[in-house]
Amino acid sequence: MSFELIEKHGEHEQVIFCHNKEVGLKAIIAIHNTSLGPALGGTRMWNYESEEEALIDVLRLSKGMTYKASAAGLNLGGGKAVIIGDPKSQKSESLFRAFGTYVNSLRGRYITAEDVGTTVQDMEYVFMETPFVTGIPEVLGGSGDPSPYTAHGVLMGIKASAKHKFGADSLKGIRVAVQGLGNVGSHLVDYLINEEAIVTIADIDQEKVKKISDKHGLGVEDPSGIITSDCDIYAPCALGATINDETIGELKCKVVAGGANNQLAESKHGSMLKERDILYAPDYVINAGGLMNVFVELEGYSAERAIDKTSQVYTNMMEVFKIAQDEDVPTNIAANKLAERRIQLIGGLRQQHHGRTARPFSTLREMTNRQK
Ligand code: NAD
Repeated sequence: MSFELIEKHGEHEQVIFCHNKEVGLKAIIAIHNTSLGPALGGTRMWNYESEEEALIDVLRLSKGMTYKASAAGLNLGGGKAVIIGDPKSQKSESLFRAFGTYVNSLRGRYITAEDVGTTVQDMEYVFMETPFVTGIPEVLGGSGDPSPYTAHGVLMGIKASAKHKFGADSLKGIRVAVQGLGNVGSHLVDYLINEEAIVTIADIDQEKVKKISDKHGLGVEDPSGIITSDCDIYAPCALGATINDETIGELKCKVVAGGANNQLAESKHGSMLKERDILYAPDYVINAGGLMNVFVELEGYSAERAIDKTSQVYTNMMEVFKIAQDEDVPTNIAANKLAERRIQLIGGLRQQHHGRTARPFSTLREMTNRQK
C-alpha cells in the first residue's frame, strides 16, 4: 500500500517511518528529491484520522517543496515531515528529541523547520539532537520569524506583476486589495504604503483591521467582498482556495498576487484566469521569501543578505511570465515548468560532474562550520 501511494504521489527518493513507543512518536519523513541540494521542509504535527492520510499529506507537501525550492533558484531539494498526534495535548520534550534523533540519522539529507502545529520551542528540542534544523531562535544563530521576508518577496512579485501587466515601473497609484492582515499581510501593507500604492484591507479580525487602518488611514472592505472588489491587484494573504468556481467569474482585478498558499482551488482555475486575461502570480513562486530566508540561515545568517535574496522573487516571477507567454500556457503551469527544467538542467550537471550524492549529504551548515 505504501509503495503504491509513493508511486502515485510523486516518485519520492526515500520515505522514513519513525516510531518510538516509549515517547509516543509516530512520524513520517518524506524526501522527495535531492538533485539540487538537501531536502528542506517543515515538520507538521496534526491529528490525522489515519496513517494513510498522514502519508499522503507528507508525500504531497514534500513534492511541493521540491518545486518551491527549485523555482526559487535555491540549492535545496524538497522534503517534509509529519508527526501524527494532537499538537494541543501530545507534545513533549522527549517526543521532539526522539524525532530529532531520526532527523540526525539522515546526516543532512533532510533539514527540518517549524510548520503547522509546531513552534520554535519544539524546534529547539529538535536542535538539541541534530544541527539539521532551521527556524531556531535568533539567539541560537537562527533567523527567527520568516514572515517579513515572505512579505518582501511578495512585494517583489507584485512589482513584477505590475510591470508585466501594466508596464508600470512603480506601484504608485496602483490599487491593491490585501485580504488577511496576519504576519505576512501586515508587513506587506507597510511595504505597499511605502511604494505609494492605494491599499484597501480586510480581515475577519476587526482589531487587526482597526489597528492597520488607523495607522495608515486605509479603506476597509468586507472580508469576503474584498476578493471581488474593484481593484487592480488582489493580494490574498489569508486562506487558500479563494480563486474558485464561485469567485472566478466575479473578479474585477487584473492581477492576483499575494502570499497565501494554495490560492487556486484547482489547477483548472489557472487556465480560467488566463481566459479572463487576469495575470496570476503563482503562489509558491511569490511566497518563497521565507524559504530564501531559511536558506541564508544555512549559509550563516545575515538579515541584510536575506532581504537581498528575497528580491530575486522579481526575476523568478518575470521568468514564469516569459515561459507562460512564449509557450502559451497558464502561469501556474509555467511555474511548474520552470521548476522542473532547473532540476533537470542543474541537477543533471551536478550528477555529471560530482555525482548525485556529493553535496546533498553534507549540508550547507556543515560546510559553513568547516570553514570557520
Ligand atoms: P496568519 O495566521 O498570521 O494571518 C492570516 C490572517 O488572515 C489572520 O489575520 C486571519 O484573521 C486572517 N483571515 C483568516 N480568514 C480570513 C478571511 N476569510 N478573510 C479575511 N481574513 C482572514 O498567517 P500568515 O503567516 O500571515 O500567512 C498568511 C498566508 O501566507 C497563509 O496562507 C500562509 O500559509 C502563507 N505563507 C506564509 C508564510 C510566512 O512566512 N508566514 C510563508 C509562505 C506562505
